Amino acid sequence: MKISSLFKPGKTVLSFEVFPPKKTSSIDTIYSTLDELKDLSPDFISVTYGAGGNLADNSTCEIASIIKNKYHIESLAHLTCVSCGKEDIREILKRFKENGIENILALRGDENPDRPAKTDFRYASELITFIKNEDPSFGISGACYPEGHIASDSLVEDIKNLRKKVDAGAEHLVSQLFFDNSAFYSFVERARIAGIETPIEAGIMPVVNKSQIERMVSLCGASLPSKFTRMMSRYDGKPEAIRDAGIAYAVDQIVDLISNGVQGIHLYTMNNPYVARRITESIRSMLNA
Ligand code: FAD
Repeated sequence: MKISSLFKPGKTVLSFEVFPPKKTSSIDTIYSTLDELKDLSPDFISVTYGAGGNLADNSTCEIASIIKNKYHIESLAHLTCVSCGKEDIREILKRFKENGIENILALRGDENPDRPAKTDFRYASELITFIKNEDPSFGISGACYPEGHIASDSLVEDIKNLRKKVDAGAEHLVSQLFFDNSAFYSFVERARIAGIETPIEAGIMPVVNKSQIERMVSLCGASLPSKFTRMMSRYDGKPEAIRDAGIAYAVDQIVDLISNGVQGIHLYTMNNPYVARRITESIRSMLNA
């Protein structure tokens, strides 16, 4: 089933994101995480892809296939193209197809010093055009950035580029994490004015420790409202308190988003089913209200 067909009036889609375990851990660790996440009945689960687009690493395909074929939950396999040539992408698409994967989050990815960039694909929109030509049956999603992509010169340029991604065939957008809902609302408004009519899911990351937030913010540049930074400082060094405050903040953001008609919530679970459970249980009754 195409992810875009999950979006219907009166329903808020709930999706989770997981990542393959690090090379030093067994792939089995993700299966215990998925065992717990499946009980929360998300509409779909997405699986991240290594930035280098390493063909030898089949874990995204393997996990997305298990989600779909063993747990019977729709899966969304991320795919980055910055270090791939057309033949590499052809091979990956073939594997996705053989494993019953129907949906791809098509991304440019970021350059990785270990794997030099190739020149076949400069932007996600070029990857989307390529996939659509190779096999139009894949459902295609794309990434979007409520506060602008970190390398973008302006919010206007970023929206123009997002429009190119949608025109190339992205049928659904998932947002970068943000902590200030007003940034998301302004972004959706800009996107609609630019003629982007695809469903847009809000990316929410529950922050459960201070180093996590510092790392995330340096990577994606999300702005931090004073309410959030006060909370982080107040509970610094108190792991349970900071976790509970992070969950409460995420729930508060989600309640506001649903009340304002958001089409979907994409929870960056960080492979932490306990946190995903607490959040999902707090918002479950609102998703179809
Ligand atoms: P693009 O859409 O290509 O945009 C990149 C930059 O180029 C932007 O500044 C854009 O404005 C600009 N641009 C786009 N098109 C044009 C054009 N035609 N002309 C000029 N400029 C243009 N990374 C991973 O490695 N693995 C993952 O699994 C992963 N999952 C992600 C999931 C989500 C929901 C998000 C939001 C990000 C994810 N990322 C992942 C990070 C992502 O790879 C980086 O943010 C990357 O820098 C941009 O990827 P993109 O697909 O958004 O790129």
